[in-house]
This record gives sequence, C-alpha cells and structure tokens, in this order.
Amino acid sequence: MSTATGTPGAPYTKKDFESDQDVRWCPGCGDYAILSVVQKLMPDLGIARENIVFVSGIGCSSRFPYYMNTYGFHTIHGRAPAIATGLKLARPELKVFVVTGDGDGLSIGGNHLLHVLRRNVDVTILLFNNRIYGLTKGQYSPTSELGKVTKSTPAGSADRPVSPCAFAVTAGASLVARTVDRNVAHMEAILRRASGHRGAAFVEILQNCNVYNDKAWNVLYDRESKTLHELRLEHGKPLTFGPADDRRGLTLDGLRPRVVKVGEVPESALWRHDEGDAAAAFLLSQMWAPECPVPIGTLLARQGEATYEDLIIDQEQRAVSDRGPGDIAKLLLSGDTWKIG
Ligand code: SF4
Repeated sequence: MSTATGTPGAPYTKKDFESDQDVRWCPGCGDYAILSVVQKLMPDLGIARENIVFVSGIGCSSRFPYYMNTYGFHTIHGRAPAIATGLKLARPELKVFVVTGDGDGLSIGGNHLLHVLRRNVDVTILLFNNRIYGLTKGQYSPTSELGKVTKSTPAGSADRPVSPCAFAVTAGASLVARTVDRNVAHMEAILRRASGHRGAAFVEILQNCNVYNDKAWNVLYDRESKTLHELRLEHGKPLTFGPADDRRGLTLDGLRPRVVKVGEVPESALWRHDEGDAAAAFLLSQMWAPECPVPIGTLLARQGEATYEDLIIDQEQRAVSDRGPGDIAKLLLSGDTWKIG
C-alpha cells in the first residue's frame, strides 16, 4: 500500500485515493476518466482505505489496483473473480472491487465471472469494454462485432459478440448496469450506486481504446447519434428517447420491443422500466442501434438477496455449534493416510 497522504482523523478526499504510481495508459485512453471517477467517489463510501481492495486480472484495465491508494491484487488472467470470492469469504467485512476488461472477463475469465455472479458474492465488478485486446496490441475480443478486421482476424471475425449485460443478467447478478467513459456525471452516479449495492453488482463501462479501436462507441460519443439513440433508464418511468421535437418510445409486443412515436400511442401503452424484472433487463441488454436505442443506466437491481458469504458463513457457524470448533491437523491426519518410505 502506498504512503497515506491524508491527515489522521480528517475526512478523506479524492487525493487520498491516488497512489504514488505513474499512470501508464496511452494518452487519451478512456481508462483515465474511469480512474478519476472511482477515486472521487471513494471518500463517500465512508470506508477506511485499509478495508477497500481492488482485484484485477490481466489487461490494460487490470493496472487499476496500482493507481488506487488502497489494498489491491493484480492477479492472473481471468481469475480476479475467483480471488475476490476467496477474499470475501475470508474477510467478509472488506469492500471488494473487481476490475476487468472484455477479454479478461468474458474470454479467459468467462467461467469465473459466471460463478461470481450466480453466487451473488458481495463484490462490485467494473468491466471496461473497449471491444478489443489493447494490451496485446489489437486482437479481436469476445465483444468485437461480427466481421471485425483485426490483426488476428484479417478476413473479419466470424464470432458473434457477447453482450456483457446480457451475460450478467442471465448469470444471476443482483445489479446490472451500463455507463459510458465520456459521460462522467452518469458514470459517477452509476458507480456510486453499484458500490453501495450488497451482492454481485456488475457495471459495463463502454470505454474507448483510442489506439487500437478508436470510437468503437461512436453511437454514444457522436453528439447527433447520442441524441438519437441514447436511452436513459429510470425506474418506473416510460422508456423514451430521441430529440425533444421527435421523441420516440418503446412498447412491448409480447416479448418484442417496438419503437413508436411518442404521442401516437397513449402513455399507458409505453413500456415502463422496472429494475426488479430480470426478463425485461434481458430484453434491454439485447437492444442496440440502429434498430433500437442503446440503454444506459441500471438494467436490473434486486435487493435483499442473500450473498454467497452469508450462506457459507451461516453453514460454518451451524457446523461449529453442532460439532464444536474444528481441528485442521486432526482432519488432515484422519482416515486413510500413509507414509511413503
Ligand atoms: Fe487504453 Fe487502448 Fe492504450 Fe490499453 S491500448 S491503455 S485500452 S488506449
């Protein structure tokens, strides 16, 4: 852990969470904005720095723990969720973040991400999605679009991309959200909410890799396109989007979203966002421009579900009260053991 810069007893500031390491991302990378927002919201968590841990795997995003003046682990490719799970079981009182990317989290670590989400481990997962492998200089990733030409797919990718939010919803995360690196106010609000959630909170951050996949998210970067396509999710509100003079809305035809002109249908016919509805969250996670708007905000939020560590610690306590405290040495030497001569 880097040297503390705060005055003892004084409230933290953003500066207290900035480490003494040189930040080594390419100039212009979207990671800088994410780092700044995370450092800014840390004091508001009201948690001592020594009780906060950032766990990462491998990739550009996974340099994150070096830059946070908290505890951190820069672990092995794709395995940050497994290490974070172990940490939460051993020290459930810690606030644990996982920082990963589209390659680390959804390719090499897809299996581990699945399990941390379905178990509802109390961790906040930030997945920086730039639709490319940046650290290894520009190979296609699990979120790259069909036909994507990269160094490893010179004839175009034949893989269909995975939607990180769809993956998280179907895996069983209790909070799933999407935000954008260039929308700092929105990102701050979403990360603040996710950080305060109890259970597996998953945030996809659309992040620009300006060196190997510049403007992959131009649909939400370009001012005109953003006005046309950005759909801000608000719980209980009708799903509407588009410019003020040509507002559009969504209705549901069975399980099929349809775009309509606002005013052409009664407001009661518009699809209202319900954060507690996982099936609706899945539909939202499948929507993309130009056929549909692009949802940003909280797709799904279920409160009050037991976390993995709640269940495991409860089992442990019941076993201790039924059978007394265990003895690991006795256990290891019990049953069929033998000596090799
Ligand atoms: Fe950022 Fe891309 Fe550079 Fe990695 S390669 S630091 S993602 S701009």
